[in-house]
Amino acid sequence: MTRETILRKGWCPGARRPMQAKDGLLVRLRMSGGVVPAATMRGLAQAGRAHGNGLFDLSARGNLQMRGVRGESLPLLIETLDGLGLLDENAAAEAVRNVLVSPFAGLDGRDGVSNAGKALEAALAANKDLHALPGKFGFLIDAGSGLSLGLVPSDVRFDWTGGKQSFAIGIGGHANEAIFLGLCGADDIPNIASRLARAFLQLGSQMAEPPRRMRGLIESCGAGAIAGLAGLRPGPPRKSGAIEEPCPVGLLRFNERYCFGVGAAFGRLDANMLDAAAWAAEIFGTGEIRLTPWRALIVPFVHAEKADAIRAYFAAHRFIVDRGDARLAIAACGGASACERGTTDTRSDALALMFFARSLCMTGVALHVSGCAKICARQAATPFTLIAHAGRYDLVVDGAAIDAGINDAKRLDLAAVREILETMARNARRRSELERQ
Ligand code: SF4
Repeated sequence: MTRETILRKGWCPGARRPMQAKDGLLVRLRMSGGVVPAATMRGLAQAGRAHGNGLFDLSARGNLQMRGVRGESLPLLIETLDGLGLLDENAAAEAVRNVLVSPFAGLDGRDGVSNAGKALEAALAANKDLHALPGKFGFLIDAGSGLSLGLVPSDVRFDWTGGKQSFAIGIGGHANEAIFLGLCGADDIPNIASRLARAFLQLGSQMAEPPRRMRGLIESCGAGAIAGLAGLRPGPPRKSGAIEEPCPVGLLRFNERYCFGVGAAFGRLDANMLDAAAWAAEIFGTGEIRLTPWRALIVPFVHAEKADAIRAYFAAHRFIVDRGDARLAIAACGGASACERGTTDTRSDALALMFFARSLCMTGVALHVSGCAKICARQAATPFTLIAHAGRYDLVVDGAAIDAGINDAKRLDLAAVREILETMARNARRRSELERQ
């Protein structure tokens, strides 16, 4: 492994091209369809112990990242990953295979979405012209089968609408902000996604500074130009209602059957937790685990009457099993302890604020504590975001900065943030009491 094959920080790492982080090399594994057989999970746990520091992250795109890999261990790790069937032909094919599908896809017996996801991955890997897509450029297919991906932003997206032409084609954002480009069937998804990706590359190549995301290109040249090149047409905005971020924790009912979801605080897992998940999938489920973009794992098809035993088992292995757990209200990157750009212990500050965050917003992630303005841990909209600068913060409420942090003196320390959140929570409580009277 040469210096050139190890990515600079800020790029999108993979297995063939890991990224240097503070605790060693970071190896990101794009698990096709988010489906992980128990044996694969166990193999990864073993590989993490043998070649890394035994820690893993669940990413906001439903990927699994192995941490602390030693440079000299990399060739052996690559061999192991190849044996597990997790290796792409080359680094470029791996990097472009950035497709997120619903965690429940295929569990209802409809294979359309799983097959479309696999076909799109294959098209992205096989067509070398598409390898020029920026590392973070992503595709999403929402199967409409519970646990909506509606709030997960994506450059190109296909959201289930029902009917024959069942998917709404969208570009640039989450389901309610993406520009709607008409409807298509599941079989059309790989072709349309590839056409939109080519339009993105072609229009971007004519610019002095090509945008790295679809939203940037829409702002520069308009959705009409992108749609036209892809043989599509922007339609009127879709009328869909407010979307709530799903909570994939606990017993989840799905088509008269049940799955069990467990969370991981900040998405952090260790090798023992991976082994525990593999065991649970074999004993309680069908031997398979699904990864989600909400930093949670799902064991499909468990028996509802075993829910207490499953909950107790996962709790004993340090998973989040209670939907009311305040750790589900927060997201934070590794900050100073894991990233060279980090200057602040984001995770301990997030833990100090989680109860205030939860009392302000009862569902989904309420507070994102980011180690810097790159906001790696979460792209989705969040009610409160803190952006760290050497132990002080800019606070952003619903996407608007309330303290722009023009200089360090204006930035907030942890106590000041806590006071603001506490006051807001108190005021919200008072308002709801008054409304009830
Ligand atoms: S947001 Fe966090 S993980 Fe991303 S670059 Fe900044 S400090 Fe590093």
